[in-house]
Amino acid sequence: MADEFDFDILVIGAGPGGYVAAIRAAQLGLKTACAESRETLGGTCLNVGCIPSKALLHASELYEEAKGGALAKFGVKLGDVDLDLDAMQAEKRKAVGELTGGIEFLFKKNKVEWLKGAAAFEAPNRVKVGDRTVSARNVVIATGSSVTPLPGVEVDNDGGRIVDSTGALALPEVPRRLVVIGGGVIGLELGSVWRRLGSQVTVVEFLDEILPGMDGEVRKECAKIFKKQGFDIRTATKVTSAKVDGATVALSVEPAKGGDSQALEADAVLVSIGRRPNTDGLRLEAIGLKTNNRGQIETDHEFRTSVPGVWAIGDVIPGPMLAHKAEDEGIAVAENIAGQTGIVNHAVIPTVVYTHPEIAGVGLTEEEAKQQGEVKTGKFPFLANSRAKTNRDTDGFVKVIADARTDRVLGVWMVGSLAGTMIAQAAQAMEFGATSEDIAYTCHAHPTHSEALKEAAMAVTGKPIHI
Ligand code: FAD
Ligand code: NAD
Repeated sequence: MADEFDFDILVIGAGPGGYVAAIRAAQLGLKTACAESRETLGGTCLNVGCIPSKALLHASELYEEAKGGALAKFGVKLGDVDLDLDAMQAEKRKAVGELTGGIEFLFKKNKVEWLKGAAAFEAPNRVKVGDRTVSARNVVIATGSSVTPLPGVEVDNDGGRIVDSTGALALPEVPRRLVVIGGGVIGLELGSVWRRLGSQVTVVEFLDEILPGMDGEVRKECAKIFKKQGFDIRTATKVTSAKVDGATVALSVEPAKGGDSQALEADAVLVSIGRRPNTDGLRLEAIGLKTNNRGQIETDHEFRTSVPGVWAIGDVIPGPMLAHKAEDEGIAVAENIAGQTGIVNHAVIPTVVYTHPEIAGVGLTEEEAKQQGEVKTGKFPFLANSRAKTNRDTDGFVKVIADARTDRVLGVWMVGSLAGTMIAQAAQAMEFGATSEDIAYTCHAHPTHSEALKEAAMAVTGKPIHI
């Protein structure tokens, strides 16, 4: 198709949004290129996000289980357990290398041309990538996001003292005391990694509770569980300064609403107060494309921006900054460009925090649902789930929120060791417009953690069996 243009589609950014868009476009027969300034494909997610963090979460969980003697009661007796941090990091790098290399393979297989370098617009259909200028009938902006800086707290990942998530994934040694600024997803996941490896972790959160955006009961339960695990969680508190002094960092914290400040000392500080969209250097002004007051590019439901021929997806547009949301938007935008109907149901995007226990949710929180009308909820604790009990892993619960009138499921929230996997069933049920009764009358294998979802659905009408 690409006669007057070099390409039918140029995707800028090869994260989960961009690489998926490029592959789907190529599958649909469009001549496709993808510009990426990083040395490897896969974006934040594969290089410095989802994948390396999950590698360290998995490895540190194994270490904590072995070191803490949790296996002994199951009759698994170990000798001395030592940490080899270099080996742990090497295994993480290997997983990252395999996965980023996998995207390179998929690009070759699907004939997506990788243009190496930073892209900047010259015109809506003309983009400079490194030293080369290419034209494309459609350009998809999928440039993702980067860490939000905190004034007065300067990140220096190489120094290893005040770091962002990228630095915290590669600390050269276990800090004795780690202060995490921001009790959100990154703070709790990476805080968990280093706590398991031996750090005393203090989480400083500006708001009254950790994990903003999640269901209220989930936030409370998680705060309890994390405190039990040894996290020192200081909510309604802000860090006003952090200064490196040799091998330590001197911090000053005070109540979020103002008041007396307090000194805090750490061996490392993680700044994890959110992420912001990447648009610097794209030269959006060259095409008259403006960002909103949060720096995001606005699109319609087909992912068209206000400039004809220019589309946007992923972390750079509004919505949760999640890899699977970016991927689904990548598929939809490619299908829309190819003349098909690409749709993403933004009301059903699951979210998962990969701590132990995992935290997962999809749809509305109970608070949001109540604002829309009358709701019924059903809750089932893992303490009453036979498999969780057998595994001696009973923290958490499942909660189903349904419309009181129609019984349609509006949201499902869970805290539990397998919540990240279990939430897919809830998302699918909601995508099919399920009622709580539909879930309650679906046969679930026994003994599985998933039975807790069935029982929570049964509890919506007051009829769980095991509590
Ligand atoms: P990105 O993955 O950010 O990719 C954008 C790419 O564009 C980058 O590679 C960048 O180099 C490139 N780029 C930017 N500007 C240009 C330019 N001008 N020219 C060329 N290339 C450019 N999400 C989950 O769903 N699950 C998780 O478990 C999870 N864990 C995370 C852990 C951490 C530590 C972090 C930081 C994030 C995590 N996320 C997770 C969020 C997830 O990584 C992002 O939501 C996802 O990567 C967004 O995808 P994207 O394609 O929009 O952008
Ligand atoms: P976040 O928005 O999850 O959490 C940031 C936290 O910092 C919030 O609780 C906020 O109230 C707090 N905060 C903000 N300013 C503060 C300040 N000055 N002092 C103290 N606390 C402050 O952001 P994040 O943890 O940095 O993660 C960024 C993004 O990456 C998120 O949008 C998330 O969706 C994504 N991510 C997802 C996963 C996952 O899906 N498992 C994992 C990691 C990151």
